[in-house]
Amino acid sequence: MSADTTLMSIPGPADPLPVPRAAVPRADGKVELIGLPREKIRAALEGAGLEPKQAKLRAKQIWHWIYNRGVGDFTAMTDVGKALQAWLTERFVVTRPEVIEAQVSTDGTRKWLLRTHDGHDFEMVFIPDADRGTLCVSSQVGCTLNCTFCHTGTMKLVRNLDPAEIVGQVMLARDALGEWPSSQEGRMLTNIVMMGMGEPLYNFDNVRDALKIVMDGDGLGLSKRRITLSTSGVVPMMARAGEEIGVNLAVSLHAVTKEVRDEIVPINRKYGIEQLLQACADYPGANNARRITFEYVMLKDKNDSDADARELVRLIHAYDLPAKVNLIPFNPWEGSAYLCSTPERIKSFSSIIFAAGISAPVRTPRGRDIDAACGQLKTAAEKKSRAQLDREAAA
Ligand code: SAH
Ligand code: SF4
Repeated sequence: MSADTTLMSIPGPADPLPVPRAAVPRADGKVELIGLPREKIRAALEGAGLEPKQAKLRAKQIWHWIYNRGVGDFTAMTDVGKALQAWLTERFVVTRPEVIEAQVSTDGTRKWLLRTHDGHDFEMVFIPDADRGTLCVSSQVGCTLNCTFCHTGTMKLVRNLDPAEIVGQVMLARDALGEWPSSQEGRMLTNIVMMGMGEPLYNFDNVRDALKIVMDGDGLGLSKRRITLSTSGVVPMMARAGEEIGVNLAVSLHAVTKEVRDEIVPINRKYGIEQLLQACADYPGANNARRITFEYVMLKDKNDSDADARELVRLIHAYDLPAKVNLIPFNPWEGSAYLCSTPERIKSFSSIIFAAGISAPVRTPRGRDIDAACGQLKTAAEKKSRAQLDREAAA
């Protein structure tokens, strides 16, 4: 299959990075409407044979049913005539990723194991808090990068998720939380973080197209101020992320020296700390009211000294960054090579940053008992060999 071997090049000074496996068409040949902008739904209806005026009207109605009411079954779209409902059902679908398993942690965190229509598994996490509820959304099945402390990093990249699969995660969470219609007040799902599996800036177009629908006032209606995209530092894509998506930015810094960052966040060998911080300084829309979050995983005796904390402060000041620091206690997984810093060490690290006038809260680990905490996501997908996946895709 040609789609499986197409390589996509990533802009940047170093060698293009191959990203395998474009999404494959559905086996039943039907067209998925989720993830398409309104205009493309209209074009799809017209392309399938509706009169232009009809296509425009029906696209508007269908959009409303999908994103305001959460309805995926054309026969439930009551302002669409029976004959047209049948016509739509033959050609189009409105689906969510399939739920393989849903788990609930003792702290209320929920994790879903999801499956794409072509059989790849990925995960999504919902973290309820007193004043908000955050959905942690995946952008890829696996990850091409291999940060040494991250469980997802031990997986190979299987494929990018497409806009339908990214928007579909948010829709599925709304289904599970009973939050349709989307205009209802007092929703539990208030925030989204692109911090699940994968590197969102290596799947830029799909993430952008999906988030546009999530942010659309007539779509899922979440404000860009409540959405955060986390990147490990794909410098050449950061300006575009600010311009074309405009959500809050989080950067997985995790180390302040070239030596340590090269080791634990290997993309650093391609885009170094200075380049990364300059891209943060240039990030469109960053200001004191909308700070950039630096994520910093606390690894015992690796990146957690007082000198590291002072260097972090120096760097933030040197680039004049409107920044806050989020300290993440390392979440261990089977086979991981690190230990989490001691609580005293984390406290000392945090107070140095705080004393310099930079907010540095420690992130409370959530859902550890169900392996839902940061960096613990990994599915059985990688246990299949690439050859096996190719055979399945060809079957
Ligand atoms: N790929 C993106 C987003 C996903 S990860 C990125 O790297 O930014 C969300 C955050 O969890 C990142 O800061 C990541 O570095 C961190 N993380 C990964 N593994 C972790 C672990 N085992 N313990 C704590 N945080 C981890
Ligand atoms: Fe990929 Fe992010 Fe994990 Fe690094 S931390 S391996 S970029 S998911």
